[in-house]
Amino acid sequence: MILIHPPLSKSCEPPAGIARLAGAIDSERIPLSVVDANLDGILRAINGPVEATDTWTRRAKRNLQSNLDYLRSGKHAWDISRYTRAVMDIHRVLGKSLESAGIRVSLSDYQDENLSPIKSSDLIRAAEEPEKNPFYPYFQHWLFPQSSAAHDGYAGFSLNFLSQALTVFSMMGYLKKENSDAKIILGGGLVTSWMKRPGWRNPFGGLVDAMVAGPGEAYLRTLFGIKDCEMHRRPRYDLFPLRHYLSPGFILPYSASSGCYWRKCLFCPEKAEGNPYRPLSVDCVQDDLAALIEMHRPVLVHFLDNAMSPSMLKGLIARPLNAPWYGFVRMTDHFKDPDFCVGLKRSGCVLLKIGIESGDQRVLDDLQKGIDLETVSVSLKNIKNAGIGTYLYFLFGTPPEGPLEARHTMDFVKRHSNAIDFLNLAIFNMPAHGPDVERLNAHKFYEGDLSLYSSIEHPKGWNRDKVRFFMDNEFKTDPAIKNIIRRNPPFFTSNHAAFFLKGSDA
Ligand code: SF4
Repeated sequence: MILIHPPLSKSCEPPAGIARLAGAIDSERIPLSVVDANLDGILRAINGPVEATDTWTRRAKRNLQSNLDYLRSGKHAWDISRYTRAVMDIHRVLGKSLESAGIRVSLSDYQDENLSPIKSSDLIRAAEEPEKNPFYPYFQHWLFPQSSAAHDGYAGFSLNFLSQALTVFSMMGYLKKENSDAKIILGGGLVTSWMKRPGWRNPFGGLVDAMVAGPGEAYLRTLFGIKDCEMHRRPRYDLFPLRHYLSPGFILPYSASSGCYWRKCLFCPEKAEGNPYRPLSVDCVQDDLAALIEMHRPVLVHFLDNAMSPSMLKGLIARPLNAPWYGFVRMTDHFKDPDFCVGLKRSGCVLLKIGIESGDQRVLDDLQKGIDLETVSVSLKNIKNAGIGTYLYFLFGTPPEGPLEARHTMDFVKRHSNAIDFLNLAIFNMPAHGPDVERLNAHKFYEGDLSLYSSIEHPKGWNRDKVRFFMDNEFKTDPAIKNIIRRNPPFFTSNHAAFFLKGSDA
């Protein structure tokens, strides 16, 4: 069997999904190849020939190796100006080397003017015309010929982001044309979301032999007749080229849970899709991580959980990791205790990602976030005093928010700017389905049959264009806020943020 993580996603750490699948099936008994085709495809593209007709491309190509060395070296603290030059130049070489009519490829995205990843008819077209995909030479000459497993049996594709969808379908179409006996299995986060839509019917029947919703470990273990389908297995990272990622060392991605322990926020996909909360035991997580850290010496552990549970955090305080780590947390009362924050720092925590969403208490209450702004205020100071970095997430244009509430968010960010290292700002997307959406009872417009979002009239008239105008012309122009935004690492954002923190061990 071959397990493939397709382009395009951020190439800074190995893909956790297929690392878990590889761990779940006993590779002693099942011939297995695991390919991060995203990293491989990107590296082969930038190291291949590029038509350098302009000064920027010539300079970027000339400096390619020194820029890659800069991103991969852990010897120095990163500087945002030097870092930005390096990633912009690599992005230039990548874009130019994969230049193709109507298609734009960056280090974090893939856009096609003619085909949409949220229309099943376009995905099928991508499968029918694989030669139009800019990664075609890569998967024709390198990926599939190198792996006889793809031709002998099963090929599993992990599709998690929209930016991967068109290329996954091109790859699957090519593989099926080359070998009609190949059995194609398609899974991953995006596939799970498609399949959880009410009334889902598979439009890819002739191409895909099986689609898998949710974690695929049990599916594969059943397929290969392995006992104890539900048993947890340690993910495998030894199958990936760990030194080739665009990071100053190996970043170890790890999920201590799937779903979310809170699962109450309005319009949250985890809630709408009814995904169950499945945590691993704290002991199991720590045993896994202790073994993986010992084996691979990562520079950073990346917890992928939607929200790390308080019991997991307490477990880490009691038994610190032997590596720096970061992850998403909810602002619970625990953070009001300065000793709790100091304990987290001692456990290896270098950065916390925190979804605050709004600086208006009524908006937070209406969205059932379970967040109290007083608690956030005290907690942010404690986190900062403990020496932990903060990456705060805000969401504008939610149904309970109007311009007044958006300005409360702006005031909140300004007042706490000294305790905020990085900001993620997003405009609310209305999910296409779910009980919270149906209650709004408003006219909806769907762009494609696979769209996970719908456009909707905002109840307060605070529509996307007005929200965008406010963000661009008011929020982002404030000097204190501008100063924080300037620190955001382009393309890799939170995945690389920890490496910019002063005094961080990452
Ligand atoms: S904390 Fe995040 S994942 Fe959990 S319910 Fe709220 S929005 Fe969803």
